[in-house]
Amino acid sequence: MPVPSGPRCRGALFGSPKRFSQAVLKTNTGNFGRIGACTICMLLRCFFAWLVGGAVACALPQADPAEMYAHAMATRYAPYADWQPVVDVDALAVQAAESAYWQTPAAIAAAREATALPLAGLHLALDPGHVGGKWAEAEWRQFRIAANDFYVREGELVLEVAQRVRAHLVELGAEVTLLREANVRVNPKGPVDYLQLAAQQVPAPKEASLAELINYGVALRARAVRLSIVVGDLAARARLVNETIQPDALISLHINAARWPVVVAADEPAKKDTIEPATCHESSSMGTLRLVASNHVHALIFGCMSQRELQSVRQQAQLAVKLSNGSGTAEWRLGAALAEAFALGTGLPASTYGGTNAILLDAQSPYLFARNLMLLRSVECPTVLLEPYVANSVAVYSRIQAALANRATGAALAADDILLEYTDAVVAGVLACYAAE
Ligand SMILES: [Zn+2]
Repeated sequence: MPVPSGPRCRGALFGSPKRFSQAVLKTNTGNFGRIGACTICMLLRCFFAWLVGGAVACALPQADPAEMYAHAMATRYAPYADWQPVVDVDALAVQAAESAYWQTPAAIAAAREATALPLAGLHLALDPGHVGGKWAEAEWRQFRIAANDFYVREGELVLEVAQRVRAHLVELGAEVTLLREANVRVNPKGPVDYLQLAAQQVPAPKEASLAELINYGVALRARAVRLSIVVGDLAARARLVNETIQPDALISLHINAARWPVVVAADEPAKKDTIEPATCHESSSMGTLRLVASNHVHALIFGCMSQRELQSVRQQAQLAVKLSNGSGTAEWRLGAALAEAFALGTGLPASTYGGTNAILLDAQSPYLFARNLMLLRSVECPTVLLEPYVANSVAVYSRIQAALANRATGAALAADDILLEYTDAVVAGVLACYAAE
């Protein structure tokens, strides 16, 4: 499996359980003792740093970087985990800041000529999520509920949005780079390159019967495809951003979907729709599909690592880079601006998370959550992932069908075209973050 490059080894910043025990004995502050040490003054500095989009989170004079990191760990990066045995914020605080290839909104605005276009100086990368095309079914991002309907393929819909957003932002003075320009993989490695790895992950057949061997072959191929177009593709995208494009920020475009409700017999009461955001489209081959009623929107930035994820050496290194290079502050600002633009532009309510895999960062910004997704964690520059709409809701499915019908017939696009609405919200969010200083 390709390894996302970029994050350097930061093993020294991550302590052993033994070290944690000593620290607890020494300070007797308990697992979250550092949170209590955060003063109102420090929080105000945090807020001010967030407002100005400073390069280093809360790194104003007088602020104690270790306490800032501890506060960020406890409230954003690992709010549900016992992070102190793993993350040594004191060591992190004395490390030199990670070099950053990107510029903050404040730095870009400061360098902008008074007569320049409103987004001059900004280099933005757009990630049309998933792949689409011939891979849409294998990546579980394709469905339709009637044989005569157009297929809803997330990868294709967001590619059009990305192209439209680019056209608008370039007119406003920005440089915009798309991670893909067609419905093809970003990962140069295809499924055949992952067969060996897939063989290590798929249980061998229990007997040499033809049926068992066929089942094994099918499972092996399916696993190799997933490794190529999902895990491998995300790693390739992160590598492309960190090593080649090196933009000021990355926005990853998706369309959310709810879990498909279980179809019940006519004489049984229908179950309430399951609302579990960020699952995207689950499958295209589930038999009878029934659309849901719920429709909502949210945006995601990096955070909310679980106890198990914190144990991963690779994820520790990626966390250290994100913590020390200041991208957390800038992406929070961009995420909040985009979330507000989507709230206004769509009129939809905010998504909600019921478990501990995501956390609402600010009650005043109910559309923005932190979550530990691979792309958010492995891209070094400020990164926001958008999950507007519920594609398998009655309202959105209808709007997507109308949009695809217009495109198929060459008819003029409707004023309420859903992909135009999506485009306008992204442009408004980028303007709010990078043009207004
Ligand atoms: Zn998606």
